[in-house]
Amino acid sequence: MLVITGGSLHNVAAARGEPADIVIEGDTIVDIVAPGAVRNANAEVMDASRRLIIPGLINGHTHSHGGLSKGAGDLWGLDLLLNAAPWIGGHRRHDDKHLAALITAVEMVEKGATACYDLFFEFPAPTPEGMEAVASAYAKVGLRAVVAPMVADLTFYQAVPGLIDALPDDARDHAARLRMGGADATIAALRRLAETWSYPRDRLRLGIAPTIPHHCTREFMMACRDVARDHDLPMQTHVSEAKYQSVSAFKVFGMSTTEIMDACGLVGPWLSAAHAIWIGESDMDILGRKGAQVSHNAAANMRLGSGIAAVREYMRHGVAVGIGTDGSASSDNQNMFEAMRAAAFVSRVRGVPPHDWVSTGEAFTMATEGSARVLGMQDFIGRIAKGYKADLVLLDLDHANFVPLNNATNQIVFTENGGAVDRVLIGGKLVVAGGRAIGIDRAALAAEANAAVDRLAALNADARRFAERLEPIVTNFCRGLADDDRMHRLHRDLGPLQPRCAHCGKPMHG
Ligand SMILES: [Zn+2]
Repeated sequence: MLVITGGSLHNVAAARGEPADIVIEGDTIVDIVAPGAVRNANAEVMDASRRLIIPGLINGHTHSHGGLSKGAGDLWGLDLLLNAAPWIGGHRRHDDKHLAALITAVEMVEKGATACYDLFFEFPAPTPEGMEAVASAYAKVGLRAVVAPMVADLTFYQAVPGLIDALPDDARDHAARLRMGGADATIAALRRLAETWSYPRDRLRLGIAPTIPHHCTREFMMACRDVARDHDLPMQTHVSEAKYQSVSAFKVFGMSTTEIMDACGLVGPWLSAAHAIWIGESDMDILGRKGAQVSHNAAANMRLGSGIAAVREYMRHGVAVGIGTDGSASSDNQNMFEAMRAAAFVSRVRGVPPHDWVSTGEAFTMATEGSARVLGMQDFIGRIAKGYKADLVLLDLDHANFVPLNNATNQIVFTENGGAVDRVLIGGKLVVAGGRAIGIDRAALAAEANAAVDRLAALNADARRFAERLEPIVTNFCRGLADDDRMHRLHRDLGPLQPRCAHCGKPMHG
């Protein structure tokens, strides 16, 4: 038995938290009692005086392979990020995949996250060794995770209608020859993974991520769904993240991204949609009625210029909302405090009245209970309550971020940046002490990361030159595609809350 004593438990309703002790048996909270109420000479005691205790934050959307790509790009929209993906992530060995996941996981725990949903990419298709490289990194750090191989049967160049034809002759041939791992081989690999996955489901859960719906054929999406259904696995996809993607879905499938996913049987309580920016009321209605969730990744949405998600409207449609950072190739840190802050802030620049902004309490609830739903783990993480796992973060109330302590929830969302994270427990086990991940040699990790980045840069130099040559063509093409006025019609009925077009600045009226 472990008793965390002398701390204040965070509670959205209490400005300074409430003094209480937490009793833990194994990995679970078995009681919450008045300070000093436990008198058990055999109990291990952890002093939490001057500490605010919050449930561990849960990252609803990230990519562990991004761990080696932090700061790799600047003026990229999502189209240019996908164009650059072959050189950013090319030639990765399994030890590079492990290293990237380790960097990502260490940053998450040190900044107060205790679980994440990782859409992990291997080219051309997932492998058991690659998945093991990632899972073992999470196990080493102690982070809870859903690890979902990100799969597709079309490349970016194949998936954007008309793009290959718009490329110069020599580039066209090269781009047209690029191939994903093949639908049948990829589905077989997913099945093999599902059959052999050996980690406990509450610690490391396998998921499936058809990466972006228009990068998948209908048959491929349905095959992914079948594997997920046969093995009871959660699914996550990037839904209508960039405007050109939503237009692409209309062009390819004759319907919206959400509608094609629904037509393929993907939408249900097992599905979470990452980003979901360029979606309409009817799409939100489908997501809400079918019990799907959204991971709101506001920082990445701004970093890539993708747009502002209509979070208040999701909530009105009954869609559960979690918060994510996105991967370090597009966000670029794994800081859930900043992700909450971005979600709260960006809701305020849509020109809507304050009662429609995302409040600090809502942002916090999204990053805990909301993201727990995104992971499908809402029955045992996301709250400090009896019967829940002991995934806890102890914030130092003497840190500048909390001095003076006026309102804990406002300061968690508006001021905290991970600097006050003192200790983190996951499943009752201490994984961060004094703000540092336990058992991690930082200097060795940095040396290994810099060596890997240098080695990979040399191997990917040709791919980088190719991608950089295509940048102006790709970005002009995708911007042209985004100007298709179908998106304006799609957003017609969003009324006074509708976002403005990120490109022309007009309200999204038809
Ligand atoms: Zn993503």
